[in-house]
Amino acid sequence: MRYLICRDCMGYYRLKDDEYIDDFESCTCNGELYYITNLNKYIKETLSKNAK
Ligand SMILES: [Zn+2]
Repeated sequence: MRYLICRDCMGYYRLKDDEYIDDFESCTCNGELYYITNLNKYIKETLSKNAK
């Protein structure tokens, strides 16, 4: 799976097979999008950072 994550609003968008990262320049909140392939790993890392 391929996802684009926005760290500003914590929204994420799952890329379809015919969609590309370059199709999405920024989030609807104008936040920067980050490309990830493992959503569960990202969530775990984010939660562990916020838990400090
Ligand atoms: Zn956003």
